[in-house]
Amino acid sequence: MCGIVGYIGKKEKITKIISCLENLEYRGYDSSGIAYLDDGKINIIKKTGRIKNLKDFISDTETSLAITHTRWATHGQANDINAHPHSVGKITIVHNGIIENYQELKNKLQELGIIFKTETDTEVAAALLNKLYNDKNDILKAILAFEKIARGSYAIAIIVEGNNNLYVVKKDSPLIIGLKNDGYYIASDVPAILKETNRYITLEDYEFAEIKEEKLTIYNNKMEIVNYEVKAFESGVEQIDKGNYEHFMLKEINEEDTVIKNTFNYYFEHFDEIIDITKYKNIEIIACGSAYNVGLIGKNLIEENLDIKTDVYLASEYRYQKQFTEKETLVIAISQSGETADTLAAIKIANKKATTLSIVNVIDSSIARESKQVLYTKAGIEIAVATTKAYISQLVVLTMLVIKGLKVKEQLNDEKSLLSEIENLPKLVRNLIEKDDYKKIAEKIYKSNDMYFIGRGIDASIAREASLKMKEVSYVHSEYYAAGELKHGTISLIEEKTPVIGIISDINILPKTMSNIKETASRGANIIIVTSEDISKENYKYVINISKVNKLLQPILLVIPFQLLAYETAKLRGCSIDKPRNLAKSVTVE
Ligand code: GLU
Repeated sequence: MCGIVGYIGKKEKITKIISCLENLEYRGYDSSGIAYLDDGKINIIKKTGRIKNLKDFISDTETSLAITHTRWATHGQANDINAHPHSVGKITIVHNGIIENYQELKNKLQELGIIFKTETDTEVAAALLNKLYNDKNDILKAILAFEKIARGSYAIAIIVEGNNNLYVVKKDSPLIIGLKNDGYYIASDVPAILKETNRYITLEDYEFAEIKEEKLTIYNNKMEIVNYEVKAFESGVEQIDKGNYEHFMLKEINEEDTVIKNTFNYYFEHFDEIIDITKYKNIEIIACGSAYNVGLIGKNLIEENLDIKTDVYLASEYRYQKQFTEKETLVIAISQSGETADTLAAIKIANKKATTLSIVNVIDSSIARESKQVLYTKAGIEIAVATTKAYISQLVVLTMLVIKGLKVKEQLNDEKSLLSEIENLPKLVRNLIEKDDYKKIAEKIYKSNDMYFIGRGIDASIAREASLKMKEVSYVHSEYYAAGELKHGTISLIEEKTPVIGIISDINILPKTMSNIKETASRGANIIIVTSEDISKENYKYVINISKVNKLLQPILLVIPFQLLAYETAKLRGCSIDKPRNLAKSVTVE
């Protein structure tokens, strides 16, 4: 979601600070802005749309203090005036998150005569900080008081008129402080500032910091000084570079063979780190979006192989529904960024009742720190908003949990052949990525208004992800359906040439899914089949064949054609593939 980058130090070119902000573009945003110190005066520029609109108004001057922001509007339209930074009195801030009690605070501040210029909750936060600063005449005390009054989520960077320091405070929204030899950067995540430094500190909830050119002091919510740990970020700068690829999405799909290899290798080498899920009476998986779709496959794999009842919940629903989570339950949270606000909120509730385990990609992220145990996926930095390689690595981790469980139960039959299949999997993945079917098929379907993805059992969960990917990047309306369910309503939507994409990865369900596919073909549907089975007799024109592998590994292969089909379709439709409209990568609001 929105991004924050700030700088304090000897001197830095504004263009360089903005280029760090550009590294956060992938998160999704609708306006951007900067406040910087210019000859002792705070200068603010903000513009709707892409960061390049902002850059048109920025000269190549240097500054010793700046805060910059990309906004993903939650309160008030995406326009210049609502864009951040916001200034009230002596306080100028950028903010990521939502101040939930902003209306109540706004009413009170209005009674005191404060006039608001924008519709944002952020301006209310600035006004509150300014009032508290005026009352206490001490910015640290003002921030402390702010934490007690403001509800919701926030990462806030603050500049105070007449004071050359940078202040930050956070709750439920990520913020890191990067250390350079001659200054500090702050950012929503490490990749943003990786070209400047890889040494960083993660700020915890309710911590706030005073950052001077040569000194950093972090306080907790009792105003005690906190000892912080400086960490080094491992991934290289090349991860945030597109290289020779036209889009990050394509680059990341092309990394999938390596990601699969790395994730399997890591967990086979660290087999002890994988928890034994067979100890638990039941399992609940909590996730959103594609991670939820991974969870559905996880449910299938766990139930089929380990006989443990598994329920999958949308994180945004979990907290508002009756929960059956108990002490003997294992709650698994899945999130690429580890910052997904809905999942974070759910895991906090689950923590009080059960053992929690998170599967996340970003080290030290909020969900990783909140859950009792964590298994990191080894996908590297994922930049494209629509997940591909991180999705695959989440599947690999769930597969490893099942393999470990089977081993504990001494039910891992023919381990040797499974291991050799795992070893061979990256090669099959590469072959699949390099097939030339996707573009040809995309050319047939890209003008359609609607598409349907159907399958049974585990194939239905793949269909769900396939449909989501298509919607996300190509903006074509699509639905997934359990193949057998189509005839109970949705089949009325099938028209001449409507693409219906059938998925079949199990010989036992082949005849049934095939019948459902034929039912749509009889009504004019344009049929595409993705299968690991031999359907050569069926005589369909568009068939993508997948290698038949061990059932545990089949979903990993099955999803790849759909990522590439969505990519090629989006390309033909001229979509903004890496940054689809309205979407954000790290969804830090509930
Ligand atoms: N709630 C704030 C706004 O709408 C911040 C949104 C964001 O995180 O970008 O301005």
